[in-house]
Amino acid sequence: MKAIQVAKTGGLDVLTVSSAVSRPTAASLAPGQVLVRNAFSGVNFIDTYHRTGLYTLPLPFIPGREGAGVVEAVAPDVQHVAVGDRVAWLGPGSYAQYTAVNGIHVAKLPAGVSEETGAAALLQGLTALSLVNLAYKVQVGDTVLVHAAAGGTGGLLVQLAKLRGATVLATTSSDAKAAEAKRLGADHVIRYDKEGIAERVRELTNGKGVQAVFDGVGKATFEASLASLARRGFLLTFGNASGKVPELDLLRLSKGCVYVARPTLFEYIKTADEFNELASELFSLLAVKKLEIRVHAKFSLEQVAEAHKEIEAGKTVGKILLTID
Ligand code: NDP
Repeated sequence: MKAIQVAKTGGLDVLTVSSAVSRPTAASLAPGQVLVRNAFSGVNFIDTYHRTGLYTLPLPFIPGREGAGVVEAVAPDVQHVAVGDRVAWLGPGSYAQYTAVNGIHVAKLPAGVSEETGAAALLQGLTALSLVNLAYKVQVGDTVLVHAAAGGTGGLLVQLAKLRGATVLATTSSDAKAAEAKRLGADHVIRYDKEGIAERVRELTNGKGVQAVFDGVGKATFEASLASLARRGFLLTFGNASGKVPELDLLRLSKGCVYVARPTLFEYIKTADEFNELASELFSLLAVKKLEIRVHAKFSLEQVAEAHKEIEAGKTVGKILLTID
C-alpha cells in the first residue's frame, strides 16, 4: 500500500512516500483491532514532534495520529463496529491507505457527520473537550485565556468555553486570525505579537487575572500565562508549538497559590468508556452544529511535506487534512 514513512528523524525531507509498505490484513489483526481503509488523515502538531524527534518513536514509523474512513475488517472480539461502517479513529500510523487500529479508539460516525469532518474533528475536538471538562472544568462566570485562538485546538477551546458560559480572552498574531477568533466567540483578542499578554489580561479583568489559561504555544507564552492567572488559577500547558517549556521552580506557584498541569489527551481516554464519553459529546455537538470544524487545507499524501511546512509556519486557521485515495 501507499504510506508515508520516516526512517530517521529530521526536517521535511525525512517524510518519504512509499508505495511498497506492507498492508495490514484481516488475518494479521490482533485481538481488539479494527482494519480501516482511510479516506482522510488529520495532520497535527504532534506529527511534527514525531518527525523531528522531540517526541521519540521507534524507527521506522508511519506518522499520523488520527484518520477516518471505512471499516475493512474487524478482529473476532470487536463488537462496536462492523465491516462497512464509517468511522473516525485515533492511534498511530494514519498517513497510510490502511491502518490496523486499536478498537478502543474507533468511533462510528453518526449520520450527518462526514469522514472529512470526523478526521478533522477527533483529535483536536477530544483534546479541547478533555481540557474544558476534565483538566479544568470551565464554569459560568469564569474568565479564561486561550492562546493561538484561531488555530485548530485553540478555535475549539474558544467555542467550548463560550458554550460553558465563560468570558474568553484570546491571543493570536495577525489581523485575520484576530477576526477569526472573534467570529468564533472570543470576547477580547490580545495581539501577542505586539501587546504584553499579562498586562492586557490584568486590564481586562480589573486586575484579577483569569481562572484558567489554555496554553498550547508553550515556551513563548509560559511566563505570561503564569503571570495572567487569578489567585488559585489553573495553567493548563498542553503543547509546544513555539518550543518546550523550560523547567519550573515549584516554589513560584505559592504566589497566588496557582496550579500548573501538563495534560495529554491520551491520559484522558485510556479506556473505551472514557473515549466514548468524550467522543459522543463531540459528535452530538457537531450533529447539532454547536461546534464548527474548520478545514484550513487539504493535501495529498505526496504533498505531506507542504502540510508539515504550513503547520510549523503557524499559518493555519483550522485543520490540515491529508486526502488518501
Ligand atoms: P494550531 O492549529 O493551533 O497551530 C499552532 C498555532 O500556534 C499557530 O497557528 C500559531 O498561532 C501558534 N504559534 C505560536 N508560536 C508558534 C511557533 N513558533 N510556531 C508555530 N506556531 C506557533 O495547531 P494544533 O491545534 O494542532 O495544536 C496546538 C497545540 O496543541 C500544539 O502545541 C499541540 O502540540 C497541542 N496539542 C496537544 C495535545 C495534547 O494532548 N496535549 C493534543 C493536541 C494538540 P498564532 O499565529 O495565533 O500564534
